[in-house]
Amino acid sequence: MKQLKERILSDGKCFPGGILKVDNFINHQMDPILMREMAKELVKRFSGHQINKVITIEASGIAPAIMVGAILDVPVLFAKKKVPSTMENMLVTEVFSFTKGRSYSVCVSGDYLCKDDKVLFVDDFLANGNAAKGIIDLVNQAGASLEGMGFLIEKGFQTGGDELRGRGIHVESLAIIDSLDNCTIKLR
Ligand code: 5GP
Repeated sequence: MKQLKERILSDGKCFPGGILKVDNFINHQMDPILMREMAKELVKRFSGHQINKVITIEASGIAPAIMVGAILDVPVLFAKKKVPSTMENMLVTEVFSFTKGRSYSVCVSGDYLCKDDKVLFVDDFLANGNAAKGIIDLVNQAGASLEGMGFLIEKGFQTGGDELRGRGIHVESLAIIDSLDNCTIKLR
């Protein structure tokens, strides 16, 4: 998506270890106009699917997910990183965090993710696909069906995209980064 690619090149910052910071328009300060345009583009790319729920993981997936959910007119469910003592009918999985270098539990209530759900996962970044794999596990535990996975930014030099597409999942990314070597952003 042209607008997003231009914004990554003008405002994105590389950090050692292959981290791209987009804190002035996605991950800290947010640009709602661009976020809405990105959501519209994701909705267009998944228009061939019947989707009745959007799912994401807190916190950075919530903004794009809620925009997508608003356009599709469906509820948005976010997996929680702190397991609440009061959650009923809880489904739990483990996710390894690329940016934090450790695993954590994420959960959703089976009251909100059930076998009739046809879900679209939306997240800010796709790197090694660990968050995505955690969501696949939760969707499977619930007996729901996964219609697709949409990302704002895919780091094409990490393994997640190939792995998810290799499983036959419909994956869409609005910008793909081919390399962050030498702290230079190379887009596909
Ligand atoms: P994955 O689970 O695919 O390995 O990593 C994706 C998750 O890690 C995303 O939810 C995102 O929050 C975070 N992430 C991975 N790489 C980056 C990055 O380069 N920059 C930022 N801002 N977040 C990242």
